Amino acid sequence: MIRFPYNPLKENERFNLPLTSLKGIGPKKAEEFFKRGVHSIADLLFFFPIRYQDKRNFTPICSSKEGRAVLVKGKIVKAEEKHLPRSRRRMFRALLLDSSGSLELAWFNYRRAYLFGVCRPGSTVVAYGKVRARGGRLQMAHPEITAVEKGDSPRPEGVVPVYPFVEAVGQGTIRSLIKEAWEKVGDDIEEILPLDVLGQLELPILKDALSALHFPPSHFDLEELNSGRAPCQRRLTFGLIFELMASVLTNKAERENLPAAPLRIPRRGIEEFEVALPFELTGDQRRAILQIAKDMGSGKVMNRLVQGDVGCGKTVVALASAYICAVNGGQAALMAPTQVLSKQHYRYFLEMGAALGLKPVLITGEDTGRRRGGGPEEMVRSGKANVVIGTHALIQDRVKFHDLRLVIIDEQQRFGVRQRRALEKKGQNPHVLVMTATPIPRTLAMTIYADMDMSMIKTMPANRKKVRTIIVHEREKRVIYEMVKATMERGGQVIVVCPVIQEHEGLELKDAANMYEALIRIYSPPYRIGFVHGGLPDKEKNRVMDGFRQGGMDLLVATTVVEVGVHAPGASLIVIEHPERFGLAQLHQLRGRVGRAGREGTCVLVVRDSIGEAAMERLRNFSKCQDGFQIAEQDLKLRGLGELTGLKQAGRGEMDLRVLMENMDLVEAAKEEIQKILRSYSKGV
Ligand code: ADP
Ligand code: MG
Repeated sequence: MIRFPYNPLKENERFNLPLTSLKGIGPKKAEEFFKRGVHSIADLLFFFPIRYQDKRNFTPICSSKEGRAVLVKGKIVKAEEKHLPRSRRRMFRALLLDSSGSLELAWFNYRRAYLFGVCRPGSTVVAYGKVRARGGRLQMAHPEITAVEKGDSPRPEGVVPVYPFVEAVGQGTIRSLIKEAWEKVGDDIEEILPLDVLGQLELPILKDALSALHFPPSHFDLEELNSGRAPCQRRLTFGLIFELMASVLTNKAERENLPAAPLRIPRRGIEEFEVALPFELTGDQRRAILQIAKDMGSGKVMNRLVQGDVGCGKTVVALASAYICAVNGGQAALMAPTQVLSKQHYRYFLEMGAALGLKPVLITGEDTGRRRGGGPEEMVRSGKANVVIGTHALIQDRVKFHDLRLVIIDEQQRFGVRQRRALEKKGQNPHVLVMTATPIPRTLAMTIYADMDMSMIKTMPANRKKVRTIIVHEREKRVIYEMVKATMERGGQVIVVCPVIQEHEGLELKDAANMYEALIRIYSPPYRIGFVHGGLPDKEKNRVMDGFRQGGMDLLVATTVVEVGVHAPGASLIVIEHPERFGLAQLHQLRGRVGRAGREGTCVLVVRDSIGEAAMERLRNFSKCQDGFQIAEQDLKLRGLGELTGLKQAGRGEMDLRVLMENMDLVEAAKEEIQKILRSYSKGV
């Protein structure tokens, strides 16, 4: 297998020093970085800015434009605190004057003593923030502000990177830590990708790319940088793509024509399987199952991808393949990206599989220690269990199979090829089935799934109702409250989704926690309200999600954790705050959470004045369209700027397909080069 790791620094001891080896960081801050997946200096150098601020020049106040962030310098002429009408809240405002005009600086959330200190009338300050018009004058809300000492003449900082939020670590500290790390090891960074290919693509080498990302020179094109398309960013994206393609194509070369003991089933067997189901298979499901049966009976390993929109019924296809495997006396493993989802699959297999002779067990790593040695793991080892369902806990060394013949991956964009392979290694050339709900254009699918044959499920089960999607302005929240109430009165469940806050982006964003408290005030009692978000420990998350699924709650406030394939049969209304913050494909997944089990579902998108016309148009189209593939393509065409998706995702070890779709030239180049390398290997050996 040839490997080109995305972050080659991680493979080198020189860079694998702990964060605490830097002067500027102690155990407490290091702990906060851990939570962001940053453990070492290697990780820190791959911790990328999410955007860049333009602090290259001071802008005269009179020429600052509404809606744009500017850097201004001036004198404070007035500062005061005042109470907001009809509320118990206060605001702090200061009037800033330069030779061209004046600007109000405003804070609604602040440390009093600090602001009174910095904004003393007569003192000079530098402020940076977005300018807007309020009550006939220019205002900057929550600016960054620095005091200028008497006699100092501050210079603009240049292009300033903004990093993802790290609790208790300020932006300035992150920047200086990265600088320190760079001074320590920056010179040692070597390129691992073929130089001639980088040259052809006009991409910088790794060292130069990292330097440009963290310390962008002033002459850089800021717009390009903020759209994620600067050469330094493309070099990193290329690294991600190169790693992926190397592993896909190696996998293909190694698994093509690999022999496997045939797992046969007569056509009658499939018919018997269908009879045991509580519903009739759709044509596409049946076709996929027959293709799988043929693959598994062929004497060569199966490498098949089942692709189909949320709710099309992929699980039953997995069930059928596990059944074919069990009929032949083999074991199947089903790996899902979250505990919640693994449990859901487990219950599904328990219910539907009993009549089919399937004996599933669940391994999620949740109960480590308590049942070590006994319980499910023993059942797997002895072969008493013929279906093993779980999270990546299945990969652990202590999970040993009696006779693993089939590996099923419920992908949902979460697992890399590496995890898939780790599971495969637990058997002797097991068959592999991957299920994905990610709609991918055909050309791309053929590239990144070059190692797989494909089955498509296009038709939805007949009992599946469309989800009515409506857009409501926040001003009309009474309408939403009424809908929520009416739904709960009818015994239906409601999901309210708020975007997660990674950075403190001022006051525009509704914080999920505030929403939860507000909803409790409105509806509870008698309605029961739960709250789930990514920051909860897994156990707690499970408890809340299980409770909701079983109907123990009427309303669930959630960040996007509900997105991943969870099935709550009673949910019929989903309200999404700040829908413009989500990709359309993500919104589509979210709305797929309601209207299952034959109930009519409704999705409410809550918009605000701050939403632009383009975003509004995008949501209007979305509300009219139910087809996941069409939506994915729209999403790609219409996606706004200012989001460095690829790099952001990469930081979490996930691959965003949109990054691939936007960089097909890089995908092609990587594919060509890797095929060349593989050919030279097979000739040379
Ligand atoms: P996904 O493809 O998103 O994983 P699931 O497998 O979870 O979808 O299926 C969604 C729901 O549709 C489940 O409740 C499942 O039992 C049901 N379902 C699947 N296939 C059919 C069918 N042919 N007829 C009726 N209901 C079906
Ligand atoms: Mg599913």
